[in-house]
Amino acid sequence: MEFRNLKEQFKVLKSDMERSITEVCEDANFISGKQVKELEQRLADYVGISHCITCANGTDALSLVLMAWGIGNGDAVFVPDFTFFATAETPAQRGAVPIYVDVDENTFNIDCDKLEKAIIKVIADGKLKPRAIIPVDLFGMPADYEKINTIAQKYNLKVLEDGAQGFGGAQNKKRVGSLAQDAATTSFFPAKPLGCYGDGGAVFTNDDDMAALILSYAVHGRGTDKYDNIRLGLNSRLDTIQAAVLGVKLTAFQQYELDAVNDAAERYTDMLKDTVKTPTVPKGFSSSWAQYTITLQSESERNDLQAVLKTRGIPTMIYYPKTMSDQNALRDYKEFQVMDCTFARKLCKTVLSLPIHPYITQEEQNEVVSAIKEYFGK
Ligand SMILES: *Cc1c(COP(=O)(O)O)cnc(C)c1O
Repeated sequence: MEFRNLKEQFKVLKSDMERSITEVCEDANFISGKQVKELEQRLADYVGISHCITCANGTDALSLVLMAWGIGNGDAVFVPDFTFFATAETPAQRGAVPIYVDVDENTFNIDCDKLEKAIIKVIADGKLKPRAIIPVDLFGMPADYEKINTIAQKYNLKVLEDGAQGFGGAQNKKRVGSLAQDAATTSFFPAKPLGCYGDGGAVFTNDDDMAALILSYAVHGRGTDKYDNIRLGLNSRLDTIQAAVLGVKLTAFQQYELDAVNDAAERYTDMLKDTVKTPTVPKGFSSSWAQYTITLQSESERNDLQAVLKTRGIPTMIYYPKTMSDQNALRDYKEFQVMDCTFARKLCKTVLSLPIHPYITQEEQNEVVSAIKEYFGK
């Protein structure tokens, strides 16, 4: 059984994919070919936002936004403690201090009450200037942007949605990529809900000036042309071949993949909810199920179950085994922290992500469910 079956997806999309990739090779427009602009327009339309700027990966997408906002030394950026490293790494790379906020035990996303407390504490401490919040749409489920945007306005902060795992999710019918008041990013890493055949990423915003700045930063800080450089930037573009791949995948995603993965998640929940703690879908929210993550009672139970599933050929993953507070690379920021992230730490010990993707079969899901039920003697 595959954890995320990209081989099966390729079998289904093969003829369109080959045609699309071959066209790029025939045109030999490997950088900034017409497929890139076409894809950006389609992504912007799908998300419901005026600008989509593609780039080399989801990490660069975060960095580009922070660069455009001039975030750096002396600034505080609020991030959930339970996330992939890039969310905290990118503000730290710019010289800012990532301030970790605990997450909600049920949604796995940033806890909005604790977020506001953290902001108040950083202001009171007076050592750093609060500048931005980077909420994460963990495992495909959007964070609560209605609350987060309100808090951000109260304290005059920017909001950057890290939608690397969230493409296709929504809060009250507004899609991931359009939820934060200022900007959003996503990743096209192969295993994300919308993935390419290598690295890729994108920035979304309704702000025209910011879109122009991001475009400049992504191409060596270009001015009127490529050889007029007016700021220090990155070389961060999406290859035309990856844009061609994503063009085919976006069609499948819109036509049936997002529905299929939601059906699979619902089926798991129906079958597992009396046996383990299944993921919570709050009212008004929908997920793109980058992961289907159950929560066990203890670390030993989680590790045991994972081992038993492995012996039966069922792959599972632990996202994430370590909080940002516990990452060695971020040790220098410990003195600035304002809270003990209890739930984040607890989740690291108790979560387990099960195989899920649009091509998973009912038989495969039944196999996973029986193995879990058998482990619990049901
Ligand atoms: C994957 C991921 C990123 C980084 O994306 P890359 O394309 O791998 O650079 C950032 N944030 C989160 C939450 C992610 O899951």
